[in-house]
Amino acid sequence: MFCKQCGAAVPQNAVVCAKCASPAPVSSTPQTNQVSNSADKGGCLWVFLGWLLSGSFISLILFFVMRSETPNRAKSILIGYLIGLISGLIMTIGVIVFIVIGISQGWIDDWANLTRTLVG
Ligand SMILES: [Zn+2]
Repeated sequence: MFCKQCGAAVPQNAVVCAKCASPAPVSSTPQTNQVSNSADKGGCLWVFLGWLLSGSFISLILFFVMRSETPNRAKSILIGYLIGLISGLIMTIGVIVFIVIGISQGWIDDWANLTRTLVG
């Protein structure tokens, strides 16, 4: 913002102009912590990166490192990490359920026989 009286730059949250002490112009729309960092953009690429690294804890470390500087990017990485974590969990549960059902139904035995015949 700029002072209407003297044209000096006035901080966003200032009540009066520091130069001429006239009331600072009131901004029509209250801007609450608008992120001016244009480099901080979340997006699919960062979600993908978070997902890609979700097997290790690198994405979590990236999240904590980036959180202060680029919160949007950090958030995208965290989302990717959570997606990776949940999908990994679902796959693990799926495999366990499949093996349990497979053994109880006798599928696994059939497969073992099948591999034995194929291998020879
Ligand atoms: Zn002024």
